[in-house]
Amino acid sequence: MPKPELLAPAGNMEKLKIAVHYGADAVYLGGEAFGLRNKADNFSVDEMRVALDFCHAKDVKAYLTINSYPRNESLPELENYLSQIAPLPFDAYIVADPGVIDAVRQVSPERELHLSTQANTINWRSARFWQQQGVSRINLAREMSLDNIRETVSRVPAMEFEAFVHGALCISYSGRCLISSMLTGRDANQGECTHPCRWSYHLVEESRPGEYFPVVEDENGTFIFNSRDLCLLEHIPALVASGVHSLKIEGRMKGINYVASVLRVYRQALDEYLANPIGWRCRSEWLDELAKLSHRGYTTGFLFGEPRNVGQEYQSAYIRSHDFIGVVDEVRSDGTILVSVRNRIKAGDIIECIGPGMRSDTVTLHEFSTLPERGAAVPAEVANPNTRILLTVPFAVEAGDLLRREKVT
Ligand code: SF4
Repeated sequence: MPKPELLAPAGNMEKLKIAVHYGADAVYLGGEAFGLRNKADNFSVDEMRVALDFCHAKDVKAYLTINSYPRNESLPELENYLSQIAPLPFDAYIVADPGVIDAVRQVSPERELHLSTQANTINWRSARFWQQQGVSRINLAREMSLDNIRETVSRVPAMEFEAFVHGALCISYSGRCLISSMLTGRDANQGECTHPCRWSYHLVEESRPGEYFPVVEDENGTFIFNSRDLCLLEHIPALVASGVHSLKIEGRMKGINYVASVLRVYRQALDEYLANPIGWRCRSEWLDELAKLSHRGYTTGFLFGEPRNVGQEYQSAYIRSHDFIGVVDEVRSDGTILVSVRNRIKAGDIIECIGPGMRSDTVTLHEFSTLPERGAAVPAEVANPNTRILLTVPFAVEAGDLLRREKVT
C-alpha cells in the first residue's frame, strides 16, 4: 500500500518548526506575495532559504504557494518575485492560475507544479487536462465525494493527488467567493479574505438605520453561510485506499497549538493504519483530542455526498475545551525547561504537556521563575503572555512540546 504524505500548513517559521517536530512529511508555506494568505506572517526570501535548509535536513519536503489570481498590473511584480525565488530548492510550487503557470514555466522551467485546490478540480477530465499542462500533482477540490476521488485517481494514474483531511471549509468552491470583496473590499482570491461567512447576520431596512431585525433560521439565530470544519480522521482508511498521495491539513493562519494538535493525531492515526490496516480502529482519544481545539463543529464535508444541513454550524461560536499556554523553547542540561508563555499562567494551574506520538503528561505547577531579557531568573507566582519562565517537570519533554490547561468555564 503506498504511504501517503501528511502535508501540514506552515504560516511562519515557528509553525514550520512545530509542523516538523510533530511529524509532517511535507509543509506548505507562502511568500510575502501571491500566496493567498496575506494575513499570515509569511516568509521573506531569506527566511525561505532558512526554512528549506531546516526542512531538507530533516527529510521534509517544502512547497511554496503561489496560488492567487493576479491581474495584468501585478504580472511584472510576479515575474520579479519568481526570478528572486528561482534559485531556492522548493520541492514544488502550488499554483492555480494558468497565467502563473505560464510565468513559472518561463522563469523556472524545471520546477515541479502542484495545482491548488483554488483551481477547483472536480473531475478526471480536468485532472487529465492539467497533466497535459505539465502539472504533477492536484489538490482536489474539497467538494468531491469519495467515489469521485477514487474514479479520478484511477483514471489518471500518472498524476499525484492530494485530498484535504482537516480544517476550515468555504461555503463556495474553495475560496472562489466574493462575499469578502463585496462586504469589506478585501478579495479572497488575492489572499485577503476577512471570513464574513462566519459572521452572524441581521436585517436592516434602509430608512431605519441602526434597527437590526433578527433573521431567524432556527432557535439559535441565522448562520446561513457558516460551515462546520472538515474532519476526516475516521475515514483515513478509505482515503488511503482511494490512492491519493497526500493528506493535507488546512490552516496557515492558525496557531502552533492547532498545527501541533492536529498533526499529532493524524500522524499517529495514519501510522497505525499503515502498520495494521485490518486491525485499525479510530480511537476515541484521537477524536477527543481534536475536540479540545478551537473549531466550529466537525463535518465530513462532501465525502459522502452533499453535506446539506449537517455541514452547517448553527452555534456560530468556536468550541474549545483547552487553552494553549506556552511552548517549550529549550530543555537545559540541569533539567529545567524554558517556556515561552502565550497565555497567563499561575502557580496552582494544572498544566498538560503534549508532544509528538500522543505523548501527554500532567502536573500541578508549584514553582517557577520568570526570566527577564537580562539578569537572573526571579521566583514568581504568575507569568503573563510574551514572557519566558523556567520550571522543572517530573517527566521528559522536548523543545517544541506545548503546554495547555483545561479551560475554566
Ligand atoms: S468568506 Fe468564507 S466562504 Fe468566502 S472565501 Fe472567505 S472563508 Fe471562504
